[in-house]
Amino acid sequence: MSSTIPTKQELKSSKRQLATVIDLSKCMGCQTCTVACKNLWTQRPGTEHMRWANVATCPGKGYPREWESKGGGFDAEGRPQPGQLTTMVDCGDNFQFNHHEVLSAGNAQRKKLEPRSASGEAPTWGYNWDEDQGKGEWPNPYFFYMPRKCNHCSNAPCIDACSRNAIYKREDGIVVIDQDRCEGHRHCIEACPYSMVYFNPVSQKSEKCIDCFPRVEKGIAPACNRQCVGRTRAYGYLDDSESQVHKLVRVWKVALPLHPEFGTEPNVFYVPPMSPLAYDDDGRLTEAGRLPIEVLEGYFGPAVRQALATILEERDRRKRGEPSELMDLLISRRWHDRFAEFTGEPI
Ligand code: SF4
Ligand code: SF4
Repeated sequence: MSSTIPTKQELKSSKRQLATVIDLSKCMGCQTCTVACKNLWTQRPGTEHMRWANVATCPGKGYPREWESKGGGFDAEGRPQPGQLTTMVDCGDNFQFNHHEVLSAGNAQRKKLEPRSASGEAPTWGYNWDEDQGKGEWPNPYFFYMPRKCNHCSNAPCIDACSRNAIYKREDGIVVIDQDRCEGHRHCIEACPYSMVYFNPVSQKSEKCIDCFPRVEKGIAPACNRQCVGRTRAYGYLDDSESQVHKLVRVWKVALPLHPEFGTEPNVFYVPPMSPLAYDDDGRLTEAGRLPIEVLEGYFGPAVRQALATILEERDRRKRGEPSELMDLLISRRWHDRFAEFTGEPI
């Protein structure tokens, strides 16, 4: 970045690019990643509604609620276009229980636990209220889990939209908000088509995932990736030819960005979920998948067809007893193999 006022292109540039890969076939929706992040970064006043890392059921309303229909991103000329602001209610209304009232002397038999939203009313929406609902008719319902965090996009409209030049890419590709420069105008919240920026009503500033950069600088993978009990996640530099992220994204091309049509060039990539097999009208298992390919195309674009075909081909190769680098990568018998140079232990 130059010492004069930086251009948006300079703010969006980085020497290298860190990336995360998440294998959706292995995610079990346990929310360990969500809690790992929440414990580290959003325990402060004003951050109660924030989940920089979160997991939602797909298809579903997601988190923040209905984020896919809030707009943002770029217009036809490539200019950032504002979408809708994320509200506290969209994030789950930050409701609390009346523990104090129920646990006060003499109240245990007369009072019951009741949730109350910030406005004092019974909440009408909460984090993952549509968990596991999914779509499809019995006996062939379907859903999968979608863990999300800021994509640390290479073409980030949040950077374009900030009137204070407070948002920039670090040299490692992580997108951060300079809290000293931010004045809380919230243009970034309107601009992010992934609704991954949150407003802190206490500090009156915008906040988002920082990809655990204080850990990353010490060679420790971000908490959401490191703590994943399903071993779904890989982390590293995209240009590191030895890293799993490089191999899964660039070589095998089985890890894809979410909603590539937004044009932000995300750096979180997903191995699309394999479908459970469908039953026919007589209750017999068929060879057809339950998860419509059109649904997956809606999330990951047309490249999802080839990605799934490649995974199936390699799975068949392994079934025949032949070696498959892709299957070894996706299984990852040693967790260290997933995180390239970021295998340090959290202190
Ligand atoms: S996901 Fe949103 S907040 Fe994160 S870099 Fe991309 S546009 Fe910015
Ligand atoms: S910790 Fe791993 S398995 Fe659990 S919800 Fe998060 S990504 Fe999925």
